[in-house]
Amino acid sequence: MLLVVLMKKIKKLSSVTVKSNKDGKETTIMCSGVFIYIGFLPATEMLEKHNILNDYGYVITDENMKTTVKGLFACGDVRKKGLFQIATAVGDGAIAAISAVKKIDG
Ligand SMILES: Cc1cc2nc3c(=O)[nH]c(=O)nc-3n(C[C@H](O)[C@H](O)[C@H](O)COP(=O)(O)OP(=O)(O)OC[C@H]3O[C@@H](n4cnc5c(N)ncnc54)[C@H](O)[C@@H]3O)c2cc1C
Repeated sequence: MLLVVLMKKIKKLSSVTVKSNKDGKETTIMCSGVFIYIGFLPATEMLEKHNILNDYGYVITDENMKTTVKGLFACGDVRKKGLFQIATAVGDGAIAAISAVKKIDG
C-alpha cells in the first residue's frame, strides 16, 4: 500500500508523492488530476455487542442473509462478502426480504 505524502499544486496539480508502507520508498508521480479513494467503513457500531461482525466491522450472514441473532438479517455493502456492487446489494436485498417473510410466516 502507498500513502500520499505530498500533493503539489502550482496553479493546478502537477504531481503526487506517495510512500510505500512496505519499504518507506517515496515515488513522485506527475499528474494533473487525482481521484481520492478513501476506502469503506461500515456503520455497524450499533451491532458490536451482538458478536456478528468480522474484524473489519462487516456483518457476518449465511447465504439467506441471516445473522446468528434471531430475526436479524443484513444485506448489501454492510455484509461480509466478496463483491461490493449494486447488483449484489440488490440480490442480497431480495434474499433478505424473502428470508424475513419466511421468518414472520413461521
Ligand atoms: C465511489 C463509488 C462508486 C461506485 N461505483 C459503482 C458502480 O459503478 N457500479 C456498481 O455496481 N457499484 C458501484 N459502487 C458500489 C455501490 O454503490 C454499492 O455496492 C451499493 O450502493 C450498496 O448498496 P447498499 O444499499 O448496500 O448501501 P448504500 O447504497 O451505501 O446505502 C446504505 C444507506 O444506509 C444509510 N445508513 C447508514 N447507516 C444508517 C443508520 N444507522 N440508519 C439509517 N440509515 C443508515 C446510508 O446513509 C445509506 O443511504 C460504488 C461505490 C462507491 C462508493
